Amino acid sequence: MAVNVNDTCYMWSADSEIADKGEYGGAVTTILKYILEKGIVDAVLAVEKGADLYDAVPKLITKPEEVIESAGSLHCGTLNLAKVVEKYLNGLKDIKVAVTCKPCDAMTLTELIKKGRVVEDNLLMVGVNCGGTMAPNKTRIMIDEIFEMDPDEVVKEEIAKGKLIIETTVEEKEIKIDDLEEDGWGRRTNCQRCEINIPSMADMALGNWGVIGPHAGKATFVEVFSQKGADILDEVISSGVVEIEPANPKGIEIRAKIDQSMFKLATKSKDKAFENLQGDLLAIFDQYKDEFARCMKCFGCREACPICYCADCILESGPEWITKGLIPAAPLFHLGRAVHMADSCTNCGQCEEVCPSEIPVAEFWDAVRQKIHEIYGYKAGIRSNEILSPLSNYQDLGLRD
Ligand SMILES: Cc1cc2nc3c(=O)[nH]c(=O)nc-3n(C[C@H](O)[C@H](O)[C@H](O)COP(=O)(O)OP(=O)(O)OC[C@H]3O[C@@H](n4cnc5c(N)ncnc54)[C@H](O)[C@@H]3O)c2cc1C
Repeated sequence: MAVNVNDTCYMWSADSEIADKGEYGGAVTTILKYILEKGIVDAVLAVEKGADLYDAVPKLITKPEEVIESAGSLHCGTLNLAKVVEKYLNGLKDIKVAVTCKPCDAMTLTELIKKGRVVEDNLLMVGVNCGGTMAPNKTRIMIDEIFEMDPDEVVKEEIAKGKLIIETTVEEKEIKIDDLEEDGWGRRTNCQRCEINIPSMADMALGNWGVIGPHAGKATFVEVFSQKGADILDEVISSGVVEIEPANPKGIEIRAKIDQSMFKLATKSKDKAFENLQGDLLAIFDQYKDEFARCMKCFGCREACPICYCADCILESGPEWITKGLIPAAPLFHLGRAVHMADSCTNCGQCEEVCPSEIPVAEFWDAVRQKIHEIYGYKAGIRSNEILSPLSNYQDLGLRD
């Protein structure tokens, strides 16, 4: 029976080695391996464990037998793969790649596609649901100080049923995520504000929510979002490399309920973060000016941003708009970025992560994003032909080479 857009199912790998190594049955790994083997893509861009469990490294894989090394979910993997796709894979101008995408990866890739910076036909977005990621160093400190466990002894970390569970080979401890976040630990603050946990802009999304009964913990819930995703899954399923079963209707209901409650939680975090923010975009900027006063103009936020687009950044190499050597940077530095980026920020948090002055850059951008949504009804990262960004497509405007 053919797979169609909006179809759902439970899926797991027919290969027991992949099923064991995979986070929830290894469906993602099996799909990636199959499409690489069959030449449907030239490479797979996935995320692998680096030095330790807190270190997530992007990996371009071209040999099918190596895909298994990327199995498993890294919750401290805060990276945005869209940056890798555009900057290091030349926007997929001459290579077909399947990318494992959290919602922020998928949203950013969607923005880059709209702007002509990533070739959509050469991209397959294999989405993974995401309830949020945790900053690596802070997580190590939290495990040491709050969980009173040795971060180097941890073999697994998992968020389940509202709790963060930390496991070593000898013990397992859990703390409610709400309590941790109340005290400034837990997920990154941009993730706490994120309303999109199921990447519906990807070609398909896989996650553990909604898998109940005998398959719980051993299979993943798959939802199909595009015809490309449907065609590929059709082939993968027909080949027999994965096993499937219809999703339990109760499980479908539970998944929708969890998604809804995560959405409400994000709204609550947003309301809390922005309760004192009023006025237009300039007024919002004004309210962050004390934070920006700590800016030492290291350009880290610009470097880390997967959307920032000028080949030659006028703020660095152009006329002395921003006086060289002057610290803090003139407000124009952030205002300049704001003008370029107002419609495109996907709240991925890369900017805030690298800021040495601990300026809540992502929070500022999220506030800008919220305002744009209020004014234009446009939300960055959403795949839609109906709601086009009023500022979209820089390529047509000649702002990019
Ligand atoms: C950070 C994170 C949070 C998640 N939170 C939820 C959740 O709240 N609810 C839910 O239903 N599902 C969530 N998932 C999805 C879930 O953990 C499984 O990835 C999914 O069920 C697929 O299982 P699998 O066995 O088929 O995956 P596997 O076969 O193990 O493959 C997992 C794939 O995820 C990729 N990956 C690992 N870490 C990252 C990362 N940080 N960024 C991008 N890609 C990565 C790997 O490269 C691999 O290709 C989350 C996944 C991640 C990465």
